[in-house]
Amino acid sequence: MEEYRAKTKIVATLGPSSSSYEKIKELALSGVTMFRINTSHGTKEEHAEKISIIRQIANEFNRNIPILIDLQGPKIRVGQIKEPIEITIGQEIILQHTKEEKNGIIPVDYEGIAKDATIGEKILLDDGKIGLRVIKTEGEKVYAKVEYGNIIKPRKGINIPGIQSSLEAVTTRDKDFIKFAVEQKVDYIALSFVRTAEDVKCAKYYAKAFGDVEIPIIAKIEKPQALENLEEIIIAADGIMVARGDLGIEMSPQEVPIAQKKIIRLTNIHKKPCIVATQMLESMIEEPIPTRAEASDVANAIIDRTDAIMLSAETASGNYPVEAVRMMNLISKSVEESQFIMTDLDVELIAELNATSQAIASSAVNIAKKIKAKGILIFTDKGYTPPIISKLKPKAPIIVVTTKEEIARKLSIFWGVYTYVDKNCNCLLDEAMFKKIDKLLTQRAKFNKGDDIVIVNSAPKLMSGTINTIRVHKIGEVV
Ligand code: PGA
Ligand code: MN
Repeated sequence: MEEYRAKTKIVATLGPSSSSYEKIKELALSGVTMFRINTSHGTKEEHAEKISIIRQIANEFNRNIPILIDLQGPKIRVGQIKEPIEITIGQEIILQHTKEEKNGIIPVDYEGIAKDATIGEKILLDDGKIGLRVIKTEGEKVYAKVEYGNIIKPRKGINIPGIQSSLEAVTTRDKDFIKFAVEQKVDYIALSFVRTAEDVKCAKYYAKAFGDVEIPIIAKIEKPQALENLEEIIIAADGIMVARGDLGIEMSPQEVPIAQKKIIRLTNIHKKPCIVATQMLESMIEEPIPTRAEASDVANAIIDRTDAIMLSAETASGNYPVEAVRMMNLISKSVEESQFIMTDLDVELIAELNATSQAIASSAVNIAKKIKAKGILIFTDKGYTPPIISKLKPKAPIIVVTTKEEIARKLSIFWGVYTYVDKNCNCLLDEAMFKKIDKLLTQRAKFNKGDDIVIVNSAPKLMSGTINTIRVHKIGEVV
C-alpha cells in the first residue's frame, strides 16, 4: 500500500551526488515527484543514463515519475583565465568579447557585450559576488568600475540585469538539448532567462520542428523583463518556475519574496503548475539539518500556494540529498496539517470559474469539504479538470485515473494530485467500474472500506474533454 506523501510536490535536481540507481531510487522513495536534469552540467550520454534509471525505477515501483530537462538559456560567462584576477573596489577594468584573457582584459563569451552595454548599467559576476558599473564603451571594449568583490575566476556567470540583449532566447546549445528532450520523450522542458511570451513560443516551435510533439514548457522567471511581461508568459507557458537564484541577482534579494508571491498568484489564476526554486535548503548541502530560516522559507512558499518546491545543489552535489528530500516532505506535511493553507474556496480563483465544467469542479470541492470526503476522484484523458481542483486546495487528496501515462506524469506535479494509469478505464459508473475503483483506492491508495469519495467525471462517455457529473460514493457499496 502506498503511503500518502505530502501534497506539495518535490522537484530534485540530479547530479554527482545522485546519479546512481541506488541514490535515485532512495530519492524517489523519500518523496521526490519530478527529477530535474540541468543541462548546464554533464553530457548527453550522462543525462540519457539518468533518464533510463528513472524510467526503470518508475516501472519497478509502478509510479508516474515526470522528468524535467532544464535548458541553460542565454547565459553569459567569463572566458578562459589562467589565474584568478584580483580586482579592488574603485578600480577600472575592461571587458571584451575574446576567448582568453590578454593584458588584464576580462574575456566575455558574448559577442554583443560592447554593443548591448549602456553607461551607468550594473554588471554582476559570479552569482552577484562581484558588482561592476559601466563607465563607457569604446569599440569592442566595455570600461567598468569595480563597486564590490575581489577575485574574478574563469567561466563564472555574468548577469547584466537591464540588458536589451540581442542574444537569442533559444541558443544553439539549447536547440540541441530540445532535440535531445524530444527524442527522450521527457515530460517538461524548462527555459531559462525568459523575457517575453515570444521566447516561450520559440522553444515550442523547435520542439515541434524536432519531433512534432508538444512538450510542456516551464518558463523560468529570473529577469526583471519577465516580471514586466508575466501574464503573457504564463499564458504562453505550461508551467512557471520562480527561479530565485538569478532573480535575486538580476533584481535584488529584497525584491524576491514579493515577486514570488505575485508569480505564484498569477500562475494559480491561470491554473498552471508553479515551482519555487533555489536555496530552499541551501545549508543542507553541507549539514544534515536545515537552518530554521530555510524551514520557514519552504513552509512559506507552500502557504503562498505553490504546487512544487525544488532542490538544486542540495540533491545534485550536496552531502545529504536524501535527508533534504525527507526534510522538505516533513515541512510540507506539517504545513498541510495546519490551518495555514486556505482550504476554503479561494474567492479570486472561483471568480474565474464560469464554464460549466469549472463550476462543477468547484462544487465537487465544496461537497467534499461538507461531507469530509477522504478523496476526490477524477477520470480524465485530457487533464483539464485536475489543475482546476488542485488550485482550490481541497483537504481531500485528488486521485486522478487516466488511460494515458504521459498525462499521469504531467499532472502529478500539481499540488495534491496523485495519478494512476488504468488502460481500460471508462467512466460508466456501473457495478464493474465501482468494483475497480474500490480495488484501486483500497489496494494502491490508502483508502478504507466505508470512506466517502467524490467522483467527478463526464457521463455517459469518458474523455469527452469536459466534466458534467458529480457523484458521491462510499467505498465498498455498489449502488
Ligand atoms: P538555475 O535556475 O539553477 O538553472 O540557475 C534557477 C535559478 O536561477 O534560481
Ligand atoms: Mn537561473
